[in-house]
Amino acid sequence: MQGRDAAASIVADLHAGSRRALSKCLSLIESTRPEDRSLAYDILDHCSASRGGSWRIGCTGPPGVGKSTFIEQLGMQLLSAGRRVAVLAVDPSSRRTGGSILGDKVRMPLLSTQENAFVRPTPSKATLGGAAPSTRDAITICEEAGFDTVIIETVGVGQSETDVAEMTDMFVLLALPNSGDDVQGIKRGIMEVADAIVVTKADVDPAAANRSVATLTGALRYMSHTESDRTTPVLACSSLSGEGIDEVLRQIEFFFDDARNEHILRRRRRQRGEWFDRAIESELINRLSGLGAFHAACQVMRSQCIEGTVAPSLAVHRLLGRVLLTVREEPT
Ligand code: GDP
Repeated sequence: MQGRDAAASIVADLHAGSRRALSKCLSLIESTRPEDRSLAYDILDHCSASRGGSWRIGCTGPPGVGKSTFIEQLGMQLLSAGRRVAVLAVDPSSRRTGGSILGDKVRMPLLSTQENAFVRPTPSKATLGGAAPSTRDAITICEEAGFDTVIIETVGVGQSETDVAEMTDMFVLLALPNSGDDVQGIKRGIMEVADAIVVTKADVDPAAANRSVATLTGALRYMSHTESDRTTPVLACSSLSGEGIDEVLRQIEFFFDDARNEHILRRRRRQRGEWFDRAIESELINRLSGLGAFHAACQVMRSQCIEGTVAPSLAVHRLLGRVLLTVREEPT
């Protein structure tokens, strides 16, 4: 079977609840091989471009803050509330070494064995089009497979957290209690896009956790959310004892039930526009890299840039000028 027939058959399996089909779709979407990409696009063509009603939750925080433990607990509670939960753990990978930041440990062992849950680590190589350009398509696939809650986990380093905020409805920031630099340690830009802040490991020192909640709440008073007029809740919880997780769940339900949740629709519209812009960038880069002559010219120009004989911006300008020579700009 080829092309559209193969895609239709995989999507039918996806609708029937096949995990194998789900994993296969996600692998195709992540692949950079042209034949895989072609099948991935045929699959996307069979999917609804925008499914309403799902919850897309982003979750970030520094390594060791307790992200996977928290998501496992929260995920179990979401399942009890009757939801179907997919977790995409996006590993931004080190841009320099290509190494994994999240590590190879088995994540969320309890949640990943539940019937109505699906956990997938997606080690995204540091692609030129930005961190995990395929993640948005992966969300579409999970929703197509019937998951009404998709949690995207990423380590809070570099660009990755803002990327995740850009593809989710609700962005949850995890912070360690009383790290002394509660607020200074967290970039202002991240706090301004957070829809909830959760102080983790409250069981270790409850008083310290409460102090952190107060400090973060105080700091938020001097900031305004970039997009919503809600007050960002700050909560403390322990993912080991489970204490406080029910309040986190209540806040999430409130966020999505909120009568003013047209801001979610607005957000999704804006995100789809940005998704288009990003897709152009990454598709252009993928296609150009696939052209042998372009690749060779790139290598030459790059060496010249390294030697300092030409400014990188000028080199790129010339290179693309040559590629686009045949494309005439129509007068507007
Ligand atoms: P991640 O790197 O942010 O995903 O963090 P993990 O979820 O892997 O947790 C890092 C460490 O913190 C692990 O040893 C967890 O058992 C521990 N941990 C996570 N949540 C809690 C918590 O609520 N209380 C305590 N005491 N330890 C926790």
